[in-house]
Amino acid sequence: MRWTKTYIPTLREDPADAVIDSHKLLLRAGLVRQLTAGVYTYLPLMQKVLQKIVEIVREEMDASGAIEVTMPVLHPAEIWQKSGRWEVLGKEQMRMKDRHNRDLVLGATHEEAITTMVRGELKSYRQVPMNMYQIQVKFRDEIRPRFGLMRGREFIMKDAYTFDVDEAGLKVAYNKMAEAYYKIFTRCGFKIKMVESDVGAMGGTGAHEFMVLVDTAGGEEVILACERCDYAANIERATSLVMSDEPSKESKKEKALVHTPNMKTVEEVTSFLKVGPERLIKTLLYQSDGETVAALIRGDRDINEIKLKNHLRCLELEMSPPDIVMKVTGALVGYAGPIGLSGVRIIADPEVKSMVNFVVGANKDDTHIINVNINDFTIDEVTEIRKAEAGEICPRCNQGRLSAYSGIEVGNIFMLGTKYSKALDAMYVDAEGNEKPFVMGSYGIGITRTAQAAIEAFHDKKGIIWPKTIAPYDFHIIPINIEDEEQKRISFDLYEKLKELGFSVLIDDRNERPGVKFNDADLVGIPVRISVGERGLKEGAVEIVIRRTMEVEKAPVEKAASRATEIWENL
Ligand code: ATP
Ligand code: MG
Repeated sequence: MRWTKTYIPTLREDPADAVIDSHKLLLRAGLVRQLTAGVYTYLPLMQKVLQKIVEIVREEMDASGAIEVTMPVLHPAEIWQKSGRWEVLGKEQMRMKDRHNRDLVLGATHEEAITTMVRGELKSYRQVPMNMYQIQVKFRDEIRPRFGLMRGREFIMKDAYTFDVDEAGLKVAYNKMAEAYYKIFTRCGFKIKMVESDVGAMGGTGAHEFMVLVDTAGGEEVILACERCDYAANIERATSLVMSDEPSKESKKEKALVHTPNMKTVEEVTSFLKVGPERLIKTLLYQSDGETVAALIRGDRDINEIKLKNHLRCLELEMSPPDIVMKVTGALVGYAGPIGLSGVRIIADPEVKSMVNFVVGANKDDTHIINVNINDFTIDEVTEIRKAEAGEICPRCNQGRLSAYSGIEVGNIFMLGTKYSKALDAMYVDAEGNEKPFVMGSYGIGITRTAQAAIEAFHDKKGIIWPKTIAPYDFHIIPINIEDEEQKRISFDLYEKLKELGFSVLIDDRNERPGVKFNDADLVGIPVRISVGERGLKEGAVEIVIRRTMEVEKAPVEKAASRATEIWENL
């Protein structure tokens, strides 16, 4: 492709509204342009990258035995109401009304659509296992669309759905998908980690995410992984070993009220009382679908609201507003405590049980209580609700320490069980003639997010360094002065030769200064560049540059194509 015949609007400066490197580079390298928040055009170079990713995905999905379909983007509200996700997804769904005033939804995922589609026709145990997938645009009205393609409101996803007769069948299907995902992401050039994840709004019995590990700000997800064994989990789900839930042997002291004027934070209270934050219990009040609950955790811990929400099985969980705090505790925010807190369900983290002589809020303005012990109040439920942290002990091997990594979730797999088949009535008849719901799984890959994850994982100060399997072109030829007949002829000869060898080639035929062309070449990041200029040609040579290392090699004009090919093969 000639540069002048395609459309690559590169930018010299970083766009002001882009925060992470890959977002800046998406814009600077002329890969995408935004139409409205979280909605993008994929420009010609990006289109090539996406096609390559899609090709890899399709090859591995087909090889795993999955079959491709295309389902509608436009869904009737009824199928979402039947599954219960009309409420669960709520505002995240793009909704509209048709001319008959019927509610419609733009598909955010397709469990409901596929279950409805197979219902009544996929109906015998003999027809499964079945795995159907599609590669298609999805719509989600994300609260914070951000970081370019990382979190868009319109994006491309590969989604697959499996149907089996039992859990054992689902496990086989699930493992097959996990294997295919490894192959896909490895072929895209990534170091990939499969981590346990929360099932979230999807429901079901188990889930894993596929994370690209990055050491930059571009990772939206924090992962905790054991240094000794293969335990790895998203921070939303990660657990750590509770060192002990046996009460400490320390002798109990007499509890007493202390005056703590205007001291509301753990830090303010504990430094005033000259004790460590681990000697205080935080009492956090939440509204769980309207009901007030209190969560107790050690003062030096952070609450994991997802764990709390899962435990409560509620749809909405938010911190209680000051007026409700006043109503249930009789005090301002900052002085809540478990003693005498009536009519509120109290949920405690297991760590709390081993504490003695600790500090709590007194449910009275400017007051705390010291030397409190577990028997001084009632706990309704004990369950892990704290955030696991780096440095803690692994819950699987009980030996290794957990380390934190920053990751980008490019795909995930879910064991759904019978949630959707039951709700939408997708049944099969077993060998004995009994009707049973299918056991399902669902499996997603963010195609557009994967493209940007590659930029986040592979770039330097000058620009993108595409892995060769998903690069928009294999070679980038630069005639340094296009007005020079010899340079032009040699460049185009090389261009034709490489194309004949089956490579994709971009040739920068612009009449631009060399500096501009070199900067743009660094920016768009095609793996191998060949520059044809006056200085080299004096010695009958061209320069071959490897974008990743910026290594330069001179090759005689007549050997340029074969040498460049060799270099490309060995990348
Ligand atoms: P997240 O936790 O990031 O919101 P999710 O759990 O909602 O992801 P799924 O519904 O399982 O993700 O979607 C499958 C894949 O689609 C994800 O692994 C991710 O790669 C991609 N994806 C999800 N939401 C977006 C988005 N808003 N923009 C781009 N890609 C997305
Ligand atoms: Mg999401």
